[in-house]
Amino acid sequence: MRTLYVSTEVFPALKTGGLADVNAALPSALAALGVDMRLLLPAFPAFSKAATGLQPVAQLAAPMLAAPLRVLRGALEGVPVYLIEAGGLFERDGNPYVDAAGRDWPDNALRFALLGWVAARFADGAIDAWRPDIVHAHDWHAGLAPAYLAARGGDRPGSVFTVHNLGFHGEFAAETFSQLALPPHFFAMHGLEFYGKVNFMKAGLHYADRITTVSPTYAREILQPEFGFGMDGLLRSRAAVLSGILNGVDGAYWNPQTDPHIAAHFNGADLAGKHACNAALRRECGLTASAGPLFGVVSRLTAQKGLDLLLDTLPGLVAAGGQLVVLGSGDAALEQRWQACAASHPGAVSVRIGYDEAFAHRIMAGSDVVLVPSRFEPCGLTQLYALAYGSLPLVRRVGGLADTVTDATAAARASASATGFVFDEASATALGDALKRVFMLWREPKDWARLIAAAMREDFGWAASARRYLALYRELRPQA
Ligand code: ADP
Repeated sequence: MRTLYVSTEVFPALKTGGLADVNAALPSALAALGVDMRLLLPAFPAFSKAATGLQPVAQLAAPMLAAPLRVLRGALEGVPVYLIEAGGLFERDGNPYVDAAGRDWPDNALRFALLGWVAARFADGAIDAWRPDIVHAHDWHAGLAPAYLAARGGDRPGSVFTVHNLGFHGEFAAETFSQLALPPHFFAMHGLEFYGKVNFMKAGLHYADRITTVSPTYAREILQPEFGFGMDGLLRSRAAVLSGILNGVDGAYWNPQTDPHIAAHFNGADLAGKHACNAALRRECGLTASAGPLFGVVSRLTAQKGLDLLLDTLPGLVAAGGQLVVLGSGDAALEQRWQACAASHPGAVSVRIGYDEAFAHRIMAGSDVVLVPSRFEPCGLTQLYALAYGSLPLVRRVGGLADTVTDATAAARASASATGFVFDEASATALGDALKRVFMLWREPKDWARLIAAAMREDFGWAASARRYLALYRELRPQA
């Protein structure tokens, strides 16, 4: 089975969110099952620097470019990779999608169309004489790959499109369609047109042979208007080819027994190291010594993540003896609210605006509770990291959060299956009620320890998910 894996972020070279973590782990997990996995990425400087053994393997004339583009082959963290060099379209520093001021790069339609177009050229055997059985495209950036494959027709690879976040569409003015070199009839409701615009997410959803998303619950939710971002009708019509496959945790990197970023190592049988991490985190963040629970947040600060609800419930959390550490960046208004909140709760609330990988690990290891009150959450990775580090997740019952955290109900506690706290409504009241349950359980150290033990027993490794992707590839190409 040969699979071309088309995406834009891979940890540690380049990361803006969980997609990068997935792309760092899933290809290797599939390779371990015998799949000939190869990545196709834009030649962002971070990838060109991180890749080894790069050699040009093709020069192609793309209809949307004046000059030929180059494809180079090498390896990224041990996985074969193809990088696309296209006269400065990708060779610019910084964020892959937006400029330093946070505005979308003006040529994004062309840039990411090219990614899809090159993916489809592999079907011709035009690149490295390597023809994949499957082209696996991720999120809107790669959404045109299934469209170009469909336009090519003939004996072509099967296409799988994975939705990591339906909230980001890759939407462009109608005029950009003429740059894409796709058949005119593709710009239609039964195609990639979405309310008069070109929509890369819709292209992936419409033209892929199979659609997956990153948790079973999210796969059901996106069939409803509340979570569908306008795509629910299309998704309902394609429900027969849509499935949810849960993301996993890279246990080599998120492991409290070996993590190089944390103050002390620990495991489920011996939590002394966790207590040391907790004390170290409070010290590092200038929090006063306290017998109350330490809450942690590592997140993009956007409306999706529901952290405004936490801001509204914070006075109660602090009054009950809790402390909070927040690491995040995103919307300027939310960043400011969080900074103001830290200023008004000195010694109890610590906020760091920015992106800091090592600090994220220290928060995961040192927190008693990790908060993920998202409005929607396709899978969510931080609650999985929290479980692995014995920090009990407090999450909203949506998407992958619902699939991975077992609420500490009386029944779940009795059967020792509870691993955290789950609430339903996206409101400060519902979150506040869940926080009250946290404080009640905090006063029962034996029960609390039982939850930690159950959380740390959970296994969200990638192997099971990789097997599901492989089964999906085999549905499309039984002979491969
Ligand atoms: P999303 O992809 O929607 O941002 P996920 O939970 O799937 O959410 O993945 C988020 C990833 O980004 C996790 O690996 C998390 O640790 C990391 N992360 C988010 N914000 C920060 C930050 N400010 N500093 C370091 N890591 C962060």
